[in-house]
Amino acid sequence: VDLPIHEAVLGGAAEFGDTPALIDGTDGTTLTYEQVDRFHRRIAAALAEAGVRKGDVVALHSPNTVAFPTAFYAATRAGASVTTVHPLCTPEEFARQLGDSAARWIVTVSPLLEVARRAAELAGGVEEIFVCDSAPGHRSLIDMLASTAPEPRVGIDPAEDVAALPYSSGTTGVPKGVMLTHRQIATNLAQLEPAVPAGPGDRILAVLPFFHIYGLTALMNAPLRKGCTVVVLPRFDLETFLAAIQNHRITALYVAPPIVLALAKHPAVENYDLSSLKYLISAAAPLDARLAAACSQRLDLPPIGQAYGMTELSPGTHVVPLDAMREAPPGTVGKLIAGTEMRIVSLDDPDEDLGVREAGEILIRGPQVMKGYLRRPEDTAALIDKDGWLHTGDVGYADADGWLFVVDRVKELIKYKGFQVAPAELEALLLTHPGIADAAVIGVHDDNGNEIPRAYVVRQPSAADLSEGEVMMYVAERVAPYKRIRQVAFIDGVPRAASGKILRRELRERA
Ligand code: ATP
Ligand code: MG
Repeated sequence: VDLPIHEAVLGGAAEFGDTPALIDGTDGTTLTYEQVDRFHRRIAAALAEAGVRKGDVVALHSPNTVAFPTAFYAATRAGASVTTVHPLCTPEEFARQLGDSAARWIVTVSPLLEVARRAAELAGGVEEIFVCDSAPGHRSLIDMLASTAPEPRVGIDPAEDVAALPYSSGTTGVPKGVMLTHRQIATNLAQLEPAVPAGPGDRILAVLPFFHIYGLTALMNAPLRKGCTVVVLPRFDLETFLAAIQNHRITALYVAPPIVLALAKHPAVENYDLSSLKYLISAAAPLDARLAAACSQRLDLPPIGQAYGMTELSPGTHVVPLDAMREAPPGTVGKLIAGTEMRIVSLDDPDEDLGVREAGEILIRGPQVMKGYLRRPEDTAALIDKDGWLHTGDVGYADADGWLFVVDRVKELIKYKGFQVAPAELEALLLTHPGIADAAVIGVHDDNGNEIPRAYVVRQPSAADLSEGEVMMYVAERVAPYKRIRQVAFIDGVPRAASGKILRRELRERA
């Protein structure tokens, strides 16, 4: 693990040679391991020749493509840190990230070039904008393959040098730049590997975005380190996704709960042959045990295994090991991975450690804890205490066997007359109603200033007459009185971050 990330991931590339490393799920373009290895070295040389130096920040602005990993590892090999950018961001958002991360170079794709140009302008300019494909007036990564420049010889200190600067999802506020060193990322890969063994022959579908830490780790670094084949899709569209599983004989899926929801409920699923799938892992947001079971039964798969983590944890701490998927208790996010410590402490007193099955804030300490937030020392200090414990802001409990359950975020808990209500629990219950396609719950204040649960509900097309009263009654019959939904609003869709999380703060603004 004490290697730069490009070495840690592509160290075995020569051995995997002609094995397809990446396949474009829409047009079939394929890169073998030998090509990814050779290409990223050539591009690193060309980037160095263009002026990219150790310590520079390169903004990688692209949907999932077969070129994405090559661009990423080329930049780190040239000594740069890579800040990955949401491909659908506006020029203003991109400019903010350029300014915040002090990125001096952009790598983009021609369809996004205008956004990148405008962002660079707003940010006061960058050294150069490269494109992965081709565009007039810009150097292309494809042309760089012909570069005869010498390979850059930069000394990288894996323990100190920042490899990636992903931004957190911005679920609770403005996305924060997270400094992850080469060692932190490589260590976390090694920590997670034993739980989910993979190798050549495994075909993984990368539909979650590479730019987010979950996609970057589970769909790019981890499978490419092991010689798997990664089939990439630029965005989630259910039918394209299902067709890709069928046509590419996908063996493993890493998804977020909204995709589990679609797999469990959407009629189109019946039209595809998904029998190549061996297992499915979900992470990034709460997944209800009933929904998970409905999905795995429908697809005839072992129970869905979950994983838990956050950008600031490089990103993983818990996972259900593949060989324990059948015996793991429903709803668990997994067991603590090696080399990591966890505490669960009282929400009222962080010095009080709680016992088995007692819910409190999850604290983590280990080698995967980030170096810090970029240029936000106060936020870093607020998150990681002086003893090195990272306060996740998530509420959870563990059973006697060490299986962790995540309840919700501390900040999202609704305080109803002294009781605490977890929105995630109510959302999960709402989804069990056959007339409800999707749902989100937030706390709002009523006329008396009391915080009460308010549900936002998306009706199934076949349930156009589902009423507010019916929704409230459905929940009231199934929960303790203090957890009842007190207000209902019908909406067309639940707002979500690219990583699959419900954007409750957007709903609060609406309310
Ligand atoms: P921000 O910190 O910018 O508000 P964010 O916390 O959503 O955004 P991420 O780092 O992408 O940004 O997400 C980490 C969070 O995702 C965790 O703190 C946790 O709340 C949630 N999460 C991750 N995995 C799971 C899981 N298996 N079950 C429930 N929640 C999860
Ligand atoms: Mg967070």
